[in-house]
Amino acid sequence: MILLDGKVASAAVKESIKKETTVLSKAYLRPPHLAAILVGNNGASETYVASKVKNCEEVGFLSSLIRFEADIAEDVLLNKIIELNNDASVDGILVQLPLPKHISEAKVIETINPAKDVDGFHPINAGKLVQGLPSFVPATPYGVMLLLEHYNISTKGKHAVVIGRSNIVGRPMSILLSSNLPYGNCTVTICHSHTPNLNEICLQADILVAALGKPGFVKQDMVKKGAVIIDVGITRVTDETAKKGFRIKGDVAFGEVSAKASAITPVPGGVGLMTIAGLLKNTLQAYKNSY
Ligand code: NAD
Repeated sequence: MILLDGKVASAAVKESIKKETTVLSKAYLRPPHLAAILVGNNGASETYVASKVKNCEEVGFLSSLIRFEADIAEDVLLNKIIELNNDASVDGILVQLPLPKHISEAKVIETINPAKDVDGFHPINAGKLVQGLPSFVPATPYGVMLLLEHYNISTKGKHAVVIGRSNIVGRPMSILLSSNLPYGNCTVTICHSHTPNLNEICLQADILVAALGKPGFVKQDMVKKGAVIIDVGITRVTDETAKKGFRIKGDVAFGEVSAKASAITPVPGGVGLMTIAGLLKNTLQAYKNSY
């Protein structure tokens, strides 16, 4: 069984980004610049944004963290995005989700200039992805593709089953795996909360991607022997014995499933780290596109 280690794979991706950044920063007289907006003080969002900022520094990017109180008016946030759209020194803009209920996520996403949309959530980038045109791919499914590439997992002609159809993970994941790409060309089945015979379908998967947000949902009896298991799930589960009072759990029951899998991602230390690698790749691309 191969452990698909996000620490190892993301370090390799980051090393290559760092090398390219060193060369390009000299040529273009400035490094790539990511602007991250954080609204409110949701614990998980704070952690994600802090990690994104730290990773930017590690590869030689500039980063700006713009914080707003949870009760910020929607138009103030939208105006800030417009200001960043018009700022030539900013290459990538991300707004950490989820946002407070009174702010429309759709409006926020659609206000970001698609050329700076390094999260790949803008409908223009989503449409380009569907048509196989160059686009910013949402960082998590992009990170999964980078992980498959790093470990040279054979995908061509395989049956991939994706559990979850969200715009940020499941749906773009299903499109990438079915696309004519070096680590695509799978036959893909996408499952969701209304799929009645989920166990049967999962048992047919050569590659199973779990992205539903239900800790330990995928059990051994849902997995074919030798399958490749990609666990996207990240859920904070309360645990008094843990230092922080919670533990991060994936969607896969790792212990029992790893006994049957040919390759599997751990949680934490798997897809989460690759998501950051995907975001950094997108930011570097946005920077290069601007010259
Ligand atoms: P979401 O809630 O938007 O979507 C969940 C999807 O799972 C939905 O499409 C739903 O139909 C499906 N689903 C729910 N219950 C199901 C069931 N019983 N059977 C089949 N399908 C079911 O969630 P999301 O934003 O796509 O995130 C999914 C998980 O991935 C979460 O745990 C989230 O925290 C995690 N996540 C991780 C990363 C990362 O970097 N690793 C990034 C984004 C999201």
